[in-house]
Amino acid sequence: DHLDPALRHAIERRSRLLGPAYRLFYQEPVEVCRGQGTRLWDSQGREYLDAYNNVVSVGHCHPHVVEAVHRQMSTLCTHTRYIQEGILSYAEAMLPSFGGRIGAEGHMMFTCTGSEANDLALRIAKHHTRRRGIIVTEEAYHGNSELTAGFSPSLGENAPLGTWVRRIPAPDSYRHDPATLGRMMAEAITREAHLLKRHGDGLAAFVADSLFSSDGVYATPEVLKPVIEAVHAAGGLFIADEVQSGFGRSGEAFWGFQRHGIDPDIISMGKPMGNGFPVAAIAVAPEVVASFGRDMRYFNTFGGNGVAMAAANATREVLIGEGLQENACHIGAVLREGIAAMAKTHDSIGDVRGAGLYIGVEMVSDRAAKTPDATKAATIVNEMRKRRVLISATGPSANVLKIRPPLVFSQADADWLLDTLEEVLAL
Ligand code: PMP
Repeated sequence: DHLDPALRHAIERRSRLLGPAYRLFYQEPVEVCRGQGTRLWDSQGREYLDAYNNVVSVGHCHPHVVEAVHRQMSTLCTHTRYIQEGILSYAEAMLPSFGGRIGAEGHMMFTCTGSEANDLALRIAKHHTRRRGIIVTEEAYHGNSELTAGFSPSLGENAPLGTWVRRIPAPDSYRHDPATLGRMMAEAITREAHLLKRHGDGLAAFVADSLFSSDGVYATPEVLKPVIEAVHAAGGLFIADEVQSGFGRSGEAFWGFQRHGIDPDIISMGKPMGNGFPVAAIAVAPEVVASFGRDMRYFNTFGGNGVAMAAANATREVLIGEGLQENACHIGAVLREGIAAMAKTHDSIGDVRGAGLYIGVEMVSDRAAKTPDATKAATIVNEMRKRRVLISATGPSANVLKIRPPLVFSQADADWLLDTLEEVLAL
């Protein structure tokens, strides 16, 4: 009721036109109309600090990407049934970055969204293993298609999970000894894989986001190593969902799975790949896709089109040229240290964690009992928004502040965020 009438009107119009399934951020939603780097502007010309958008990882409207997309769109935009240089040079440049089997002799296949990439990864995994069981973490999110929504428990209690889906706990480093997490998860894999087999499905794949974003952001390195050994022992494949953790986000490695010292069978990626232009992909080990390629064909009208590949090539050039993984490492540490310092005087901060520019701050009402405090998290998110700093909250209890800015986040941006958080915590 305190909303500006024009904004209220826009919200009503939106819900009438788009229906009931869409959600907005913030008690007072933001109408954005322009972006540059880490900054957004609303229709009144007010400037915001974007500390949330991981899609535009090289910064909103980066001129190199804009120019490449514009140039290709005015030259040619067509699909993968012709030979085109952009898609080949992209795969050639990217494949070595994965290391392991995929780096040595793997392939890339292109889609438009992360959901489609995971969907394709699963189709390939099921075809290769001739099984259909899938294991994910408790609050995982892997996509919006019929198949991927069926193994995305974070969609909520009422969202249907496939009967072939089993869940294991995420590596909660706040409530468990980090040294035991890998073993705990590996034991859970063995148990669930056995159940899948007994029920007739068998394990096709374990799918995981190595930063466990929707589970509440957990970044202990090396955790997945024993887990993947258990997956392989059960005859399943490991699909590394790099939609959140890839492209330098974790600061410590270009790909999130590399922080765990593992060699995935399939890797899916999306979000920041084209800095906002829809482009996503999988990378796959050759033996895994061999039977799928023999028995079927793959075509995706828009996936891997010339403009998408121009966006992806240009984004990759900026990521590397501007040293953004290194920046994520450096500024991420500045943010985590700054917030950890605030935790000394603010008991509501239970835990500060993450890697690079993917940060989780767990808000609690009782530090000793580690009781999740979703109200506090929501208050902070909305008070930050009032001060024009945009973050969000995540996790099964929605009590973990999620700070995940474009990778071009500067020291000045970090100062703005930290000063605002300090002010808001004191309310
Ligand atoms: N995997 C993960 C880990 C994601 O976070 C998301 C999107 N939030 C997806 C897959 C799906 O990507 P898209 O929205 O591009 O379909």
